[in-house]
Amino acid sequence: MTDTRDIIVVGAGLIGAIQALLLARAGNRVTVVERRSLFSNASAPDYLSGRTVALSHRTWQLLCGGNLWPSIDHCAIETIHVTEQGKFGSVTMNARDVSVDALGFVLSNVDFERYLHSLFKAEPGIELLEESRIQSINQSADKVSLGVVHKKREQEVVADLLIAADGTGSAVRGMLDIQVDERDYRQCAVIANVATTKPHRNKAYERFTSSGPLALLPLATSQNNGHVFSMIFTAAGEDIEKLQGMTDLEFLAALQSKFGGKLGRFEKIGKKIIAPLKLTVSARQVESRCVLIGNASRTLHPVAGQGLNLAVRDVFELAARLERNSDVDLALKDFCENRRRDQALVTRQTDLLARAFTRKPWLLRMPLSVASSSSFLLLEFLNPLKRKFAQVSMGHHQPLPR
Ligand SMILES: Cc1cc2nc3c(=O)[nH]c(=O)nc-3n(C[C@H](O)[C@H](O)[C@H](O)COP(=O)(O)OP(=O)(O)OC[C@H]3O[C@@H](n4cnc5c(N)ncnc54)[C@H](O)[C@@H]3O)c2cc1C
Repeated sequence: MTDTRDIIVVGAGLIGAIQALLLARAGNRVTVVERRSLFSNASAPDYLSGRTVALSHRTWQLLCGGNLWPSIDHCAIETIHVTEQGKFGSVTMNARDVSVDALGFVLSNVDFERYLHSLFKAEPGIELLEESRIQSINQSADKVSLGVVHKKREQEVVADLLIAADGTGSAVRGMLDIQVDERDYRQCAVIANVATTKPHRNKAYERFTSSGPLALLPLATSQNNGHVFSMIFTAAGEDIEKLQGMTDLEFLAALQSKFGGKLGRFEKIGKKIIAPLKLTVSARQVESRCVLIGNASRTLHPVAGQGLNLAVRDVFELAARLERNSDVDLALKDFCENRRRDQALVTRQTDLLARAFTRKPWLLRMPLSVASSSSFLLLEFLNPLKRKFAQVSMGHHQPLPR
């Protein structure tokens, strides 16, 4: 066990909040700087409007181990069914095939964040500066100082380490002049919750279509009796404009024709959010005494639901390295070395999935499509291969941090 430290965490989204709680519980004094107001009285969105996130089995293990698994409504994913539109063959992964109760869990983003923020109040090691704007960062060999405007008052916070969890457009990353590599997928995700006439029975669906992947994640049974899914519908090119102009009924019909009738009729849809999709990877994760984490470090295509899961493995590893190492610089170096492989693997696989099935010149599309159909068949019949695939989806390809 090392000395405790002063640590600044910029951003109290899911990743910043988990990171701050882990570090405070290890005895560090943590200042959390967030631009939003975190404890508003706004009511949570209804079951058809809230955004959700799928947490892998490994994330569940880590959060339970860190005493951070939220006591909120969630839905266990017991089966994942993967298909390609217009192609023969599918892959089904079952929790029992890999000897677990659930492959993952689907939670409401808002409820999860609120749960984590509520824990701040019980953590004496956390000082929260909400409604804050960061102005400057200065680093010396072993300290970092952050200029902040908190509720219109300027102040300076000095610490041994600054962790930037301020999202894809990270202001900290900009101030540190860290470049990002960007791949614009020229796709948009239409995100909404949809109600079906048949129940989900804890099954998630991933369907690859010519305009991009379509994912349906089951939501907790308390929400409309197990008939509601969180949907990510990816669209590319001229489809984006068409989708933007559609009424809800027209959209439900388009969804039905892409997905088919396996779940009966798609009969209701909540508020749709349309978001452009890009892969952004920062050129460096560490700059002296500053480290980027979560979306600030890399933002992945949501196709495989891996962005948050990967970042959770990062925050647990960073907390463990800092706890074990009295030298912060060495802890950061070990952290980067240890996380490089997992980050590269998940980024590569997600990027491949995002690009493999979308429209391409037919010369390129044909071999990819033949390969995908045969690999679906192969995956279905070769159990060891399927287990490997399931293990990466569950985050089990990496050992648990000690
Ligand atoms: C459609 C979609 C579906 C997804 N589904 C999944 C999934 O199923 N599973 C999965 O693992 N991942 C999923 N992801 C990815 C996941 O949402 C992200 O990995 C995750 O939200 C990243 O969290 P974060 O805390 O790093 O960033 P954010 O959620 O962006 O949080 C950043 C925080 O920083 C604050 N902030 C920003 N700027 C400043 C500033 N200058 N000063 C102070 N505070 C600041 C913000 O207010 C916010 O609180 C999905 C992504 C999308 C787009």
